[in-house]
Amino acid sequence: MGLIFTKTCVLCCKTLDADAGKAAMLCPACAKAVREQYRCTERFQIDGADDAAAPLLYTGAVADAVKRFKFKHRQHYADWFAAQTLPVLAERLDTWMPDLVTFIPIGVLHWYQRGYNQAELLAQRIAAPFSLSCAATLWKRPFTPKQSGRKDAAAREKNAKRALWIRAGIDLSGKSVVLVDDIITTGSTAAAAVKLLREMGATHVYVLAPTRTPSGRRD
Ligand SMILES: [Zn+2]
Repeated sequence: MGLIFTKTCVLCCKTLDADAGKAAMLCPACAKAVREQYRCTERFQIDGADDAAAPLLYTGAVADAVKRFKFKHRQHYADWFAAQTLPVLAERLDTWMPDLVTFIPIGVLHWYQRGYNQAELLAQRIAAPFSLSCAATLWKRPFTPKQSGRKDAAAREKNAKRALWIRAGIDLSGKSVVLVDDIITTGSTAAAAVKLLREMGATHVYVLAPTRTPSGRRD
């Protein structure tokens, strides 16, 4: 008897039918829900960015999947979230004309606990099909308070600005940069990163994430 390989749905964790195919990552019910409930169609802005986009709403089963992706070692979910995000970049490729894909960093302590940065896994998978370079450009300070603990927008903005800093020796002069994160919430972290990328010389900065909170105003 050979090994029985089972795959589970990224959104509801149910076992997928054996005949679903090697590439399948969702059960039919969740695939339908993605089409009907989870599409993010609203346009939104990030302070300082030239444009921003996200294909999915961070709510319900999608939000739960992002949490498993981040905190429960479901690194392979990066494939599914990147697959949702790639068409968004494809649509904008001629306008954005990216030279580089980069990502929001996580603190060193989190990196050692988790072993990966979910935004980096996404950025790599988003850059590769377009043969774009993907590189780290920013650091995260190890002991900054969590954004979710900040009460209001002003406090989150201040906290976000303190949390990030520039990696030495990177020149983004004249470059168009796509900044990838896993969720856009208030946008204060992305806005702080955009500001730093511009200080590094980037002429255009675009923000791309697989998910965005429906209101855009909470963590
Ligand atoms: Zn499912």
